[in-house]
Amino acid sequence: MANVKIHTFDAVIVGAGGAGLMAALYASRNANVAVLSKLYPTRSHTGAAQGGVGAALGNMEEDHWEWHAFDTVKGSDYLADQDAVDILCKDAIDVVIELEHMGLPFDRFPNGRISQRRFGGHTNNETKKPVMRACHAADRTGHMILQTLYQQCIKNKVNFFDEFHVVDLIRVDDTIRGVVAIEIATGEFHIFHSKAVMFATGGWGRCWQVTSNAHSLTGDGAAICLRRGVPLEDMEFFQFHPTGIFKLGILITEGVRGEGGVLLNSQGERFMEKYAPTIKDLASRDVVSRAIYLEVKAGRGINGKNYVHLDITPETVNHYFEKEGEKRRIDREYIEAKLPDIADFTRTYLGVDPVKEPMPVQPTAHYAMGGIPTDVEGRVVLDADNTPLPGLYAAGEAACVSVHGANRLGTNSLTDLVVFGRRAGKHMAEYCQTAVLQPLPDDAADEIMAEFERIRNNEGHAKMFDVRNQMQTTMTEGVSVFRTEETVSTTLEELKKLRTEYKSVAIQDKGKIFNSDLLETWELGCLLELAEVTTISALARKESRGGHARDDYPERDDDNWLKHTLCYKVGPGEYRLDYKPVTLGRYEPKPRVY
Ligand SMILES: Cc1cc2nc3c(=O)[nH]c(=O)nc-3n(C[C@H](O)[C@H](O)[C@H](O)COP(=O)(O)OP(=O)(O)OC[C@H]3O[C@@H](n4cnc5c(N)ncnc54)[C@H](O)[C@@H]3O)c2cc1C
Repeated sequence: MANVKIHTFDAVIVGAGGAGLMAALYASRNANVAVLSKLYPTRSHTGAAQGGVGAALGNMEEDHWEWHAFDTVKGSDYLADQDAVDILCKDAIDVVIELEHMGLPFDRFPNGRISQRRFGGHTNNETKKPVMRACHAADRTGHMILQTLYQQCIKNKVNFFDEFHVVDLIRVDDTIRGVVAIEIATGEFHIFHSKAVMFATGGWGRCWQVTSNAHSLTGDGAAICLRRGVPLEDMEFFQFHPTGIFKLGILITEGVRGEGGVLLNSQGERFMEKYAPTIKDLASRDVVSRAIYLEVKAGRGINGKNYVHLDITPETVNHYFEKEGEKRRIDREYIEAKLPDIADFTRTYLGVDPVKEPMPVQPTAHYAMGGIPTDVEGRVVLDADNTPLPGLYAAGEAACVSVHGANRLGTNSLTDLVVFGRRAGKHMAEYCQTAVLQPLPDDAADEIMAEFERIRNNEGHAKMFDVRNQMQTTMTEGVSVFRTEETVSTTLEELKKLRTEYKSVAIQDKGKIFNSDLLETWELGCLLELAEVTTISALARKESRGGHARDDYPERDDDNWLKHTLCYKVGPGEYRLDYKPVTLGRYEPKPRVY
């Protein structure tokens, strides 16, 4: 390990998004913690979250955490673990107030309380009508959460290693010894020797072509865990958000519909009235994405293309408010105040002024419901009996606790980050109080250093961006809003070929300093593996549930499939599936009616 710098901490947190920072804030109170991030912390994707963070504060109308819990379980198509959902919804209230006390500048109602708005799937359980539960700071909620948490971490002297790219986990049998990272600026390898490690590395929307996700969302943490013997849970459930900007995939928050916006087809019909008569445009995301797909398939896409319109113009919105007996009216000022970034995006990217004309939208790959399996303390678990691997933690989008089951409700990811980030951070610090630092094996970094040398010096014929493009195309064609045995199998075959092709990717930059060519090629390896796991899990699940809609098995099948998938890597390109029971609770599985 002559060329490797070694650092020692009690615990290492990989990722500085909402989950990593919340965990760091809590863990650093009782342990010596390092946060490693391949991005400068405030560039993490959490900063792009727009619409809100869900908590049943009931600031404007009646609401209860139990209602939030029921909506979450129903939205998950009954695949969520209900013990974890109860924690999510109960703790949400307290943690949002905690964020406010840290200085997060939420919008406010005239009575001074935190402003809340409607969002998909969040209802008054008695009337079944949408309820105002999404606490927000304009349409920059995630940005504010990230900035607030980062400031708190700086104040609490958390040790940050910015632009350190983690590439391996040091696991010896069932003990965790740290991680291997590359310092991006120099290309040098570093070992962070520790008693505990947490992955809070976010999602992997970059497996698909049209996505709301940042370029950096390549699933590194999940792929590293998979390679080190940890199964991945429920990977077939990937959320397609209904309203991405046509072709670009950039997200238009559900908050637009929460504020009254409606979806219209080429005939000017508000088609969600057909698919979800009670909650209409605010049905769960899986339901709305499928409706858009079906409208387009029936020839009712705008101009015959594969998109529909999202209309927030005061004229249209006020028309529907009036029709539905709602007293509220909106105007230009209201839209500019509540959705400033959205207005800015559509003007910049599309030349469309949302106050005057509708926005062209299509479903966009958005959120990983599955991921690294954990218990409610954030401990990574290894099997169907939930056996923890001591010292290994995961939180945020990279993890699967599982509160989102087969489909996540809007605003519940930010809630998940802060609620389970906090729990995992606390637990990890407690663990470090008694755990002993295990010695570092001599060859801790050898395997991964050899892999980087292979990529750097490879003389093959393939180009990284070609392989990535082909993966994104085949995932979009085969494992998208709808799937069938045939589409998924074709994608799996294609991915196998791409795995071989990947071995002959040659890069041009052979240097050390800021070698993004090298690191992106390594990231592509992660994406390819996660794409394969997603596809294998999707092929096996012969039912439709939440984000996994099989055209050839259109019904949910609770008798055979009310269970979580676990996918293990057992060799190069070889995987094994297992299943674990869903933790039920107050809510018995029922058909979802909107
Ligand atoms: C456009 C958009 C809008 C959204 N709006 C909402 C919303 O309104 N409400 C809601 O609830 N959810 C929303 N979501 C979802 C939510 O924002 C994300 O699920 C959540 O922010 C993920 O947070 P995280 O902490 O898990 O990871 P991220 O915020 O994605 O951070 C990942 C971190 O991991 C680091 N990292 C990754 N790999 C490595 C590596 N190999 N080495 C070192 N560091 C690494 C990165 O540098 C980064 O710091 C939105 C998502 C998008 C894309």
